[in-house]
Amino acid sequence: MTICIDMGATEIKVAPIKGNEDKIIVGELKKFPTNASLGKQGIVDALHKAILSLNGADVYGVAIASAGDIDTESSVITYATENLPGMIGFDFAQFCKDNFNLPATAINDAHAALLGEMVYGAGQEYQDKRVVMLTLGSGVGGGYYADGNIVSNEENDYGRFGHICLEKDGRLCTCGKKGCVEMYLSGRAIHRDADALGIDGPDIFEKYGNGEQKNVEFVNVLRANLKKSLDLVMQVSPFDVCIIGGGVADWMEQYFYSITDNLGYNIIRASLGNSAGIYGAYAHYNRR
Ligand SMILES: [Zn+2]
Repeated sequence: MTICIDMGATEIKVAPIKGNEDKIIVGELKKFPTNASLGKQGIVDALHKAILSLNGADVYGVAIASAGDIDTESSVITYATENLPGMIGFDFAQFCKDNFNLPATAINDAHAALLGEMVYGAGQEYQDKRVVMLTLGSGVGGGYYADGNIVSNEENDYGRFGHICLEKDGRLCTCGKKGCVEMYLSGRAIHRDADALGIDGPDIFEKYGNGEQKNVEFVNVLRANLKKSLDLVMQVSPFDVCIIGGGVADWMEQYFYSITDNLGYNIIRASLGNSAGIYGAYAHYNRR
């Protein structure tokens, strides 16, 4: 089996996967705190612990999805924010070889989520299409799939759609730029905006569904921001289908399609939930 890892800023998810691209068996998903506040050593120790928890005689390799920019050829983190302090330059393949004598691959977590959805989830029937994914979580992750693979290059800014400028001179983003998509469509931003209108809470979208005026107006602004974001994504990564995942999609629940319909795009909801990165790490490992 393959040890599959999804390393984010707050937790490291790990699950064993057996099988091939057609039929796989996914074992129990476990979570470990990333311990990013402890710096690089804390993160590396947490990663070690996560892999060790599943290591055994029947393990063939380690498939990793991680926050940050990853060079998929070398499995090295080429860029990371302070979410993963000190990790720029970290070599996943070398780490797994030195500590466990196992081969390893690594891919950016948002790209992994898209690849996971394409191979095992909502995107399966669109494998011959051009597909973008927006993961609306605590941040906004992006990915682009065309000609059967993830497309990540300078032209589409490596799929960092969360940091496309939505509002000129808008809100200051953690990346240092102003007006990024992430500042308007992430779970954090949506909570903050709703809170400012006095409508925060888990039932924002339910009340929208029930036709409460304030909530309907709030969602209309959200829809407009989503449409504008997709218009901008279209310019750098022309797509036929958009998959939306992340905590915000789950939050919208049964109102997902009433919110995302009629924006002029073919939008579908992700189906692998917070396991998408694990599945994508595995699909990437098998394509190495
Ligand atoms: Zn930004």
